[in-house]
Amino acid sequence: MRQRTEHRELPPTAGLPPKVKDLWPWPTEPLANALSCLIGHQRSWVTCSGTAALVVALTALARHSLRREVIVPAWTCPLVAIAVVHCGLRLRLCDLRPNHFDMAPDALARLCGPTTLAIIPTHLAGRVADVTTASVYASACGASVIEDAAQSLGASHPGGIPVGTLGDIGIFSLAAGKGLSIYEGGLLTTRHSALHDWLQQAVETTLPRHTRRELRRSIEFLGYTALYNPCGLCLAYGRPLRRALQNGDPVGAVGDRFPLTIPLHRVGRWREAVAARAATRLPGFLDALQAQAQPRLQALRNIPGVTVLDDTPGARGTWPFLLLVLPGQAQRDAVLERLWTLGVGISRLFIHALPDYDYLRPFIDPIDVPNARDIAARSLTISNTLWMEDSTFVSILTVLESVLARYDRRRAPFRSLPAISSPQK
Ligand SMILES: *Cc1c(COP(=O)(O)O)cnc(C)c1O
Repeated sequence: MRQRTEHRELPPTAGLPPKVKDLWPWPTEPLANALSCLIGHQRSWVTCSGTAALVVALTALARHSLRREVIVPAWTCPLVAIAVVHCGLRLRLCDLRPNHFDMAPDALARLCGPTTLAIIPTHLAGRVADVTTASVYASACGASVIEDAAQSLGASHPGGIPVGTLGDIGIFSLAAGKGLSIYEGGLLTTRHSALHDWLQQAVETTLPRHTRRELRRSIEFLGYTALYNPCGLCLAYGRPLRRALQNGDPVGAVGDRFPLTIPLHRVGRWREAVAARAATRLPGFLDALQAQAQPRLQALRNIPGVTVLDDTPGARGTWPFLLLVLPGQAQRDAVLERLWTLGVGISRLFIHALPDYDYLRPFIDPIDVPNARDIAARSLTISNTLWMEDSTFVSILTVLESVLARYDRRRAPFRSLPAISSPQK
């Protein structure tokens, strides 16, 4: 593939490009109203991050229960683990179905019990997770379901039910790089009127007003608005990425290393208004992503050895990027070696299964989660940004085809063992 042209960098995920005209401080409707066609009309709150939304949800549930365990998929955003620990709760990691990000039903059944406070089924990569199974086990053991829809704002379950509204509580992220962004922000929602007061109380007690933090986020958001384009991303995203990879630090390259303290404060009216104006463009943007993704998905599926994650019939996900699973880690790494630093929108989702992040070790039981480790080792992502031209996508296809053709002949084993060290029990 042609070397990266010096001043162009595609984002790893298709965020809605912010517009300068969103920034004017004229009043607008609340963000939750502006998004109601995508997330439904139930009660919602704006939070300072998706993680903060999760902290509020867990705080509300824990205040009214003696249960202290939270079940999360073993391959998810490390911030989810940090939120659980922040709330003084115990993480229980659930291994996944093979080749998928959904929690394995048998593993989930083993983890559920009288001490389970909540189960967090997680919609990754715009895809729609299996919330029904989690709900069945949750009601059998008396736990709540929190849908983590941080990566899937605008997706819907079969029957057109918005993600985030099938479980008891839903959370979304408005962080940089997620669909709709105010640099750092989130949404919390519930379909249960019985939970309104608990969540309202938890919002008031956990998210104080903090003028300086909000000012800082507002300035960061202006910077994001200025730089979220293929030129600016070279500076803000591409350069740090290449530096981290050069230093052998993939965790730093994808931004998987998070501080253990979670900033908690209220979002100001200006940032909420900006998001509400941008939100009016979101449905059309999601349609454009869907239209671009469909033929590309088909082309990827035609390559033997490539598995592209898709939705179950009836569900309608969004397409910020395409999540691929290759036959083995060797192939996945060979593709990344050719493409990761070229600025063409190739990346990885989460580098490790949760037990394999060094900085999380003190908080996580060293359990074996083979399927989570396996998908971490064999998956990669292709951005679905509208800035990616067909010619770039075709060159990515060519690299995938050549890598897979070569490895097929050598009959690489289907399942690679993780190269990362397994913690001892
Ligand atoms: C990004 C993300 C979060 C956290 O959202 P922030 O807004 O970054 O705090 C939680 N869960 C998943 C799956 C995510 O991708």
